[in-house]
Amino acid sequence: MNTLLLYPEWPDTYWSFKHALPFEGKRSAYPPLGLLTIAPLLPRHWPKRLVDTNIRPLKDADLQWADLVMVSGMLVHKPEVVRLLDRARARGLTTVVGGPITSSVAELAEHADHVVIGEAEELIPALADDLERGRAKPVYQAAEKPGLDKTPLPDLSLIDPRYYSAMAIQYSRGCPFTCEFCDIIEIYGRRPRTKSPAQVVAELDQLYERKWRGSVFIVDDNFIGNKKKVKELLPALADWNQRRRNPFTFFTEASLNLSDDPELLEMMKAARFNRVFMGIETPVEASLKEAHKLQNTRRSLMESVKRIQSYGMEVMAGFIVGFDNDPEDIFDRQVEFIQESGIPLAMVGLLLALPGTQLYRRLMKEGRIVEEGHGNNMDLRLNFIPKMNPQRLVEGYRSILARIYQPEAYYERVLRFLEQFKPVCHTHRSWSDYKAFLRSIWKQGLRGDSRRSYWKFFLEAATRYRHAFDTAITLAIMGYHFQTLTRTVLEEQ
Ligand code: SF4
Repeated sequence: MNTLLLYPEWPDTYWSFKHALPFEGKRSAYPPLGLLTIAPLLPRHWPKRLVDTNIRPLKDADLQWADLVMVSGMLVHKPEVVRLLDRARARGLTTVVGGPITSSVAELAEHADHVVIGEAEELIPALADDLERGRAKPVYQAAEKPGLDKTPLPDLSLIDPRYYSAMAIQYSRGCPFTCEFCDIIEIYGRRPRTKSPAQVVAELDQLYERKWRGSVFIVDDNFIGNKKKVKELLPALADWNQRRRNPFTFFTEASLNLSDDPELLEMMKAARFNRVFMGIETPVEASLKEAHKLQNTRRSLMESVKRIQSYGMEVMAGFIVGFDNDPEDIFDRQVEFIQESGIPLAMVGLLLALPGTQLYRRLMKEGRIVEEGHGNNMDLRLNFIPKMNPQRLVEGYRSILARIYQPEAYYERVLRFLEQFKPVCHTHRSWSDYKAFLRSIWKQGLRGDSRRSYWKFFLEAATRYRHAFDTAITLAIMGYHFQTLTRTVLEEQ
């Protein structure tokens, strides 16, 4: 059975990094790890191909070759997932859809022959067996969450790593916290499941053998969900890196209570983590309590951020407006916090009630849901009735974006971050880094609209922060992505 694995194109969101990728000459930020992981679960004798439509468009010849098409995606990919499925179906091909999207979008059953809901480890072999026997069911749903010891090594032969900005591995699934708006805990559960250090090391070996050097994204939703286990893993990562003369740096997502654990921070520094994304959400304690984000309460958020940054990790963070307890001055408070904290890459979104979350259920009970969530929290369509006047909320949100991504404010934030940033290691530099540097000078310094601010920043970074100059340029390029995307959002009606 010729099997075509398809990954949908990212819409233009913060996480797509679409406007920054051309600087490095890359086509996508990360490879489609889910599809690479399910490929080895399919029968070995099935020929497989993968088309990541972020890398190249799907051709008719691809579909002509295939007997079976498998599409995976997230909620934010919904229009593209539907488009790919419909295109394959129009040619009479058998279609399967899976990935996190199937846990929240019921209507996919109208577009695919078979829907896989939940984690793939046990479902894919059963589906493949049924397909071979001609008795496959419309829906495959996991009865329980599998242990990650069953997760195979991703099949990297299906991609060309050169097209990606970073490689991706997964260490854990699930998160112990209870944030009301979060769909992760609904899909992956609150008991973190982890791979063994040996499994992770095998994935690193594989990346290294495929000649990857540079950044590796550990895609976990909360890397430190099980601190005891992660402390068993980190020495293995540090040791692996050291023995090969530090070919990789890591970045990941973690909860803010990382700042409470100096031992863990030290271990991450030793393993060469240089960036961590965290959900800060809001500086308003009442809104954090409302969102059940208790791990962020009863602390100074600012000090927590600074402590993590002091271990050589750039903090990248998510912020939300639209909570019931948000005061009228929330927009100014968010801007002040973001500027003061030196978080260059601040991802601010409108609160979204994602289907299947505690928030969605509460708002539904209160009669406040107006439409299904679309998964893109930069979309200005609210899917619930907020307590604040909706127009005021959207306008306030736009004013945050306008202020924090105004070039002077952005560069000021990067400089504030660099003031106390001590890079733990020299990152591996490749040709793409040098090309990115030259393109930054060309595009931002010679042709951009904010040339003055760029050069002011450039000179200050080159003279005062020489030790972190490459981080400064990377952040200037990332800033270009955020500024371009922000302009698009602000131009929307
Ligand atoms: S910490 Fe992050 S992953 Fe965990 S429940 Fe909260 S939002 Fe979800």
